[in-house]
Amino acid sequence: MQIGVHDSIAFSFDPERIAAFLESHGHQCTVLEAGDSVAGEGYDCVVTFGHEDALLDAPWVHCIRAGVDAFPFDRYAETETALTHSPGIHATTIGETVLGMVLSFARRLHRYRDRQHANNWEIEPYDATFTVQDETVCVVGLGTLGEGVALRADALGMTVRGVRREPKPVPGVDELFRPDELHDAVAGARFVVLCVPLTEDTEAMIDADVFAAMDEDAYLINVARGGVVAEDALLDALDGDEIAGAGLDAHAEEPLPADSPLWGYDDVIITPHVGALSNTYHESVGKLVVANAERRENGESLSDRVV
Ligand code: NAD
Repeated sequence: MQIGVHDSIAFSFDPERIAAFLESHGHQCTVLEAGDSVAGEGYDCVVTFGHEDALLDAPWVHCIRAGVDAFPFDRYAETETALTHSPGIHATTIGETVLGMVLSFARRLHRYRDRQHANNWEIEPYDATFTVQDETVCVVGLGTLGEGVALRADALGMTVRGVRREPKPVPGVDELFRPDELHDAVAGARFVVLCVPLTEDTEAMIDADVFAAMDEDAYLINVARGGVVAEDALLDALDGDEIAGAGLDAHAEEPLPADSPLWGYDDVIITPHVGALSNTYHESVGKLVVANAERRENGESLSDRVV
């Protein structure tokens, strides 16, 4: 197949890497720059990180992300361009990112790393340090990300609560709550981890009332999308010591603006939406594209299709 590789992918990895992977599976690849025309070039598929209108001229666009909330679904439907995404490949990376943040907050590693730059031997207050064993984590959304977090938290001896719409048991999860029980689910949890897609239902679902329901020594961890959290309410909760801190991989505006107050908190860990990255991401996505290319060649319907 003839596959275009859009250079917006460079946010995650060098586009040449996935081009080489796809070529090693028998496909012909061209790296496209933003603004390059796709019309009439014979592409069967364009693999991309982000959307631009030129992509609508391809019969099939594959997004290398799980979340496709930034794509104009109606335009894809209008132009009959198939849009597929990359779910099911982020359990390990995000699971490890979240547990990294959890352990850093508990063992205070982020504070020591901060002080290291000032040659500062200062020790954290005795009561600030804790172990995560026997602490409770509440995972909101139990798809790929949520399950990856739940299994790893369970392995560390944490009590795992989950918020999900269907009351179906999930490995590693001790107690399930429905979305309308969110306040009960977060109360008493030391960590609240957001793993839901950004939808009409989840937009700003973490608001002032949720922060009020959380314990004062609790941490919010957002690896989902910035829009799931009402950012003003988060700032108020941090300023008012309603929560202890936050680990934020996803932000309302990305890159997080240089003048955002969020940069300044001792107990906020900011990462630039990289929680799912690893040195094998291009292969994980490449395998999804190869499998779907085979389906397309066989006249079968595409997997992981959102439009
Ligand atoms: P997924 O589809 O496997 O799981 C999402 C889960 O959330 C599903 O089980 C769904 O039923 C549930 N859900 C939806 N609305 C809900 C609600 N109101 N309350 C409770 N549960 C609800 O998706 P995933 O791969 O786990 O990814 C989830 C989201 O995380 C993506 O949509 C994306 O926005 C984000 N994400 C971020 C990164 C990153 O780099 N930080 C990486 C991958 C995904």
